[in-house]
Amino acid sequence: MNKAKRQAVIAGNWKMNKTPSEAKILLEEIIPVAKDAGCEVIACVPYVDLSVALDTVKGTNVKIGAENCHWAESGAFTGEISTGMLKEMGVEYVVIGHSERRQYFGETDETVNKRTKAALAAGLKPIVCVGELLWERECDITEEVIARQIKLDLYDVSAEDAKKTIIAYEPVWAIGTGKTATAEQAEEVCAFIRAELAKKYDEETAQAITIQYGGSMNDANAAELLSKENVDGGLIGGASLVAAKFGAIIDAATKG
Ligand code: PEP
Repeated sequence: MNKAKRQAVIAGNWKMNKTPSEAKILLEEIIPVAKDAGCEVIACVPYVDLSVALDTVKGTNVKIGAENCHWAESGAFTGEISTGMLKEMGVEYVVIGHSERRQYFGETDETVNKRTKAALAAGLKPIVCVGELLWERECDITEEVIARQIKLDLYDVSAEDAKKTIIAYEPVWAIGTGKTATAEQAEEVCAFIRAELAKKYDEETAQAITIQYGGSMNDANAAELLSKENVDGGLIGGASLVAAKFGAIIDAATKG
């Protein structure tokens, strides 16, 4: 019932894949498979692909996102990209706190929070990633880990801004490993996230927020995962690089 009222969002996270010319080719393949989508379709691409990606999707229903942003407006932050730079280009979404950034690039909940607030202040829609490590699941502290991430990553984010934020539940052990959470595991944690959001904000706000599942989602398992009440979409890595697979996931989301 509430699921039907929420925006279903299928977002590809291309990671460090595709040069600008390759990005154009892939988007030209994605556009036709996305054209009848009953959900939001986003491709989050490397910074250097943003310009060609925005040009290629012009006039279509495919939206473009970045894979990160910095919290400062400008300054001595070599190698970083500001929210103002993204906004001026026409980027609408930005992935924040992906587990690969947390694992390999020192991203913390504090920096995730700063980036999230900066994105929202600039009018970008953040896709904030949360998720437990395998050993945290094995130690039975998944809920503690997720509750902490929700509290810290959304610290000082208003209810109004939270409604513009997408939460991606991505169990770290399922990302790029071919190991998918079962639909029951995904639903259990996505429902827990919604309950935490209701505690932090209120039920109406929690019910309005899109919560995605991410972690080896593909054309074969998407329908079952996306049928769950609290799974409103997917953040997709590997399968988003193959238009036919991404299209099948979009179809699964459209059917609900
Ligand atoms: C991701 O990068 O967010 C992701 C879920 O990757 P994959 O689908 O390849 O597991």
